[in-house]
Amino acid sequence: AKESERGSYRFFTAELNARAVERLELDGKLRDALRLGEFELFFQPQWSLADGRLTGVEALVRWRNGGGLISPARFIPVAEDNGLIIPLGAWILEEACRTAARWRRQGHDLTVAVNVSPVQLRRDDMVARVRDVLARSGLPAHALELEITESLMMGDDLPVLDMLAALKELGIKLAIDDFGTGYSNLAYLKRFNVDRLKIDQSFVRDIDRKPDAAVIVSAVIGMGRRLGLNTLAEGVETEAERTALLHAGCDDVQGYLLGRPMPGKDLDALLTRQLA
Ligand code: C2E
Ligand code: CA
Ligand code: CA
Ligand code: CA
Repeated sequence: AKESERGSYRFFTAELNARAVERLELDGKLRDALRLGEFELFFQPQWSLADGRLTGVEALVRWRNGGGLISPARFIPVAEDNGLIIPLGAWILEEACRTAARWRRQGHDLTVAVNVSPVQLRRDDMVARVRDVLARSGLPAHALELEITESLMMGDDLPVLDMLAALKELGIKLAIDDFGTGYSNLAYLKRFNVDRLKIDQSFVRDIDRKPDAAVIVSAVIGMGRRLGLNTLAEGVETEAERTALLHAGCDDVQGYLLGRPMPGKDLDALLTRQLA
């Protein structure tokens, strides 16, 4: 037993080292990526379950490096550590608002959801930034939704909580991302005038097969409805999941079944078909 324990320990440290090395490499390359214009926004459509209308898009960042795409799950944590998330987050917000404003001018009534890192709320003046970007892009405030995670609202970080309240006063929408995976003190939902709960895909995944997941999803939707919040289910991949969500009273859905994240020009084509 001792021998195999030592073996797995060695394996563990080797893996940790490999990860540290990878992070260092990413760190260096990330610093140049913004200057080199290697980031791109993809957009994933969001649909109303009741009438099948496209109601919004979520902006998801991509990094095109050396012919491949690097996942945000890998580089966002590094950008949060090295501070690049501030200029990168500003670029994402600007690009998302500009693109959505163009779609709205073409007659598409949609909202754009932008993921906001806790680091941006702690270290950037998000109120001034959002106000400026809205003014420059011409996007109406109510067409911008910021996605934040539950843990952020649970803390007692007063400057962050004040900033969220000030952001709401600009007239933007606030969505809680990955809802259900964090803590479950719900008082903050009303306190901050949250507009939407995004039900995490881990619950959606099993809704049609595991009674527990179905109970949780129904409870969240019921609570959302009683609080006057919109509910959106993430990661919908099958028709069975879509049907179960419809019956549970969910408002909106997003997932591979109805559209993967795609470059802006592909969304142009999708929107044109929808108007026709
Ligand atoms: P998230 O905000 O929870 O985004 C949802 C993720 O689920 C996206 O992964 C999306 O491509 C993926 N997804 C959508 N539909 C399905 C589905 O039907 N099945 C499955 N299995 N997955 C689906 P992505 O784009 O790789 O992003 C991963 C995470 O990286 C995001 O999770 C978010 O936390 C972060 N991220 C992405 N873009 C940004 C950004 O612009 N800013 C910040 N701060 N974080 C971002
Ligand atoms: Ca999100
Ligand atoms: Ca999510
Ligand atoms: Ca399933």
